[in-house]
Amino acid sequence: MQQSNTSAAQRILVVEDEPDIAALIAYQLTREGFRVETVESGTDALGSIYRSIPNLIILDRMLPGLSGDEVITRLRGDSETSSIPVLMLTAKREQEDRIEGFELGADDYLTKPFSPRELVLRVKAVLRRVQDAGAASGGRVLRAGPLRMDLASHRVLLEGRELILTPTEFRLLESLMERRGRTQSRKQLLERVWSYQSGISDRIQTRTVDMHVRRLRSKLGRVGGWIETVRGFGYRLVIPEGVE
Ligand code: CA
Repeated sequence: MQQSNTSAAQRILVVEDEPDIAALIAYQLTREGFRVETVESGTDALGSIYRSIPNLIILDRMLPGLSGDEVITRLRGDSETSSIPVLMLTAKREQEDRIEGFELGADDYLTKPFSPRELVLRVKAVLRRVQDAGAASGGRVLRAGPLRMDLASHRVLLEGRELILTPTEFRLLESLMERRGRTQSRKQLLERVWSYQSGISDRIQTRTVDMHVRRLRSKLGRVGGWIETVRGFGYRLVIPEGVE
């Protein structure tokens, strides 16, 4: 039995320029035993992250100067920071916003105003996903042709070259690799990869999964074609004949 990581050991960076919201988030998470640091700008966020990598970042989208979108784009483009889980906040209600955030590599999304309880649940769900992926792996390596997933170190190699995947993309690929040849519905993927229970509209579910699959496919290059769409149902990974 592996000793579970207590939330007390975990550090969360909150990037939010609205003092009331930043204070509310810090209060809630501190109460839950997290160590919380708050900064007000994207530039300060990058400074803090490179000084010490946090366990999770809560990133407001609308920030003065360097926007949340720019911050996450930079984080995802650097192998040192690409796997930090990011929960994005937006003031806008439009679904497109949520979708764009996912496209940029956010692991989850919260629309303001949100309830403190919802925030805590989402933060824990994202952290659990990352921990489960590490703990359950036990040094396992999944292989398919030129693709190699090291579950313990969270690395993916394609033809020997390291691929930079977000934590969510990693879990998605892991789920597809583990159940290769079998179709998984979007609902199953949401449960397995996103730890979602219910309560999300079908349209959002569909868009969330589809967006991540699209990004994963493009990162996988020619191997991306192995992820097949099963129309009106979900996805499966089909490894071509002759590939070990
Ligand atoms: Ca803001």
